[in-house]
Amino acid sequence: MRVVSLGSGSSGNAFLVEAGPQGRTKLLLDAGLSTRMLTTRLASVGVSLAQIQGILVTHEHSDHVQGIPTLLKSQRMPVIADMRTLKAIQEGVRTGVWRTDSGRVVRAKFQDESAVLATMQTTEIVGTTMLLEEGDISVVTPETSTAIKLPHQELPAGSRLKIGDIEITSFAISHDATAPCGFLLQAGGCRVCLVTDSGEVTPTMLEHMQHADLLILESNHDRERLWRGPYPWHLKHRIISATGHLSNDQAGEAVLKIWRERGMRWLWLAHLSRTNNTPGLALESMRLYLRAAHVNLAYIKIVALPPTLGQIWDSTQLWQ
Ligand SMILES: [Zn+2]
Ligand SMILES: [Zn+2]
Repeated sequence: MRVVSLGSGSSGNAFLVEAGPQGRTKLLLDAGLSTRMLTTRLASVGVSLAQIQGILVTHEHSDHVQGIPTLLKSQRMPVIADMRTLKAIQEGVRTGVWRTDSGRVVRAKFQDESAVLATMQTTEIVGTTMLLEEGDISVVTPETSTAIKLPHQELPAGSRLKIGDIEITSFAISHDATAPCGFLLQAGGCRVCLVTDSGEVTPTMLEHMQHADLLILESNHDRERLWRGPYPWHLKHRIISATGHLSNDQAGEAVLKIWRERGMRWLWLAHLSRTNNTPGLALESMRLYLRAAHVNLAYIKIVALPPTLGQIWDSTQLWQ
């Protein structure tokens, strides 16, 4: 399994996840960058857009989906998300209006609904959806999802889906979007968990995070810096609310709750605010929490993801 951070932060989020022999299964995890940026950054790690088999989406804020409309003009790939998120994305494609992570409404420059929706009927259903709660299997067919015209694969929050070599478990997080989700991805005996854009850490989130070899966790802001910073009062409140973003302290507390010897060995601090945080602050805060709990810092590799092409994780490191 290989994970590449293509960009992280409020200016745009996207990861490449690969698994299987020769990395034959390739997914994008969010597509909040322009197609040009995605193309360039993927090329620098030897991947072309044509090789991507689907776009797994956490939620519909523009910094996670703004690349999708243009991407779907040239590529045939399903958007994989909860049905409520799919509807919100389709509405964004239809109207050209998107909500940003800071609650603003923006009009996209690239609106061309017909070109995007034209790909709709040609995309195959690529997986099987399993409802965890009920334990039964339901395959999403076009009949059950006629309202959605985007090429898509439904992945309800709290369910599992296998795409090629990657098993995806989706779980609800706490953010002001229609159906925000985190994901636990498993392939070849290793596990990667992604949790960004959440105002709090719930027991459900911890339950999934504790299985990760690589945890990608939001460490959005330094609380003090946010309060003293230039953001308007209502936005500060929104960010610290239970449906806002995780602070450095919340990230540290969450990691301590799931910490165990021989557990997670890589921790990527993600979605850092450029105004209310710095990589140095986020890293130092996390290290302080771990040191206070007598965690051996030699065992865990912690990095703060930049807004540009960032870290590459290869699961072969697990056995080294
Ligand atoms: Zn975001
Ligand atoms: Zn968001």
